[in-house]
Amino acid sequence: MAQLSCPKCAGISNGKRGFWLWFFVIILFPIGLVLLLLKPKYTCSKCGFMFKQ
Ligand SMILES: [Zn+2]
Repeated sequence: MAQLSCPKCAGISNGKRGFWLWFFVIILFPIGLVLLLLKPKYTCSKCGFMFKQ
């Protein structure tokens, strides 16, 4: 998974795709694959700050 540094504290943030995103990808397959082009949300492991790339 993609890793970025947090804009607030410069800690390591991991990109996450939620359960519902995978749900729709499978239900709407193959059209749902387009959803994977959406950018994942990043959550900082240090301060918990959430951001999009
Ligand atoms: Zn942070």
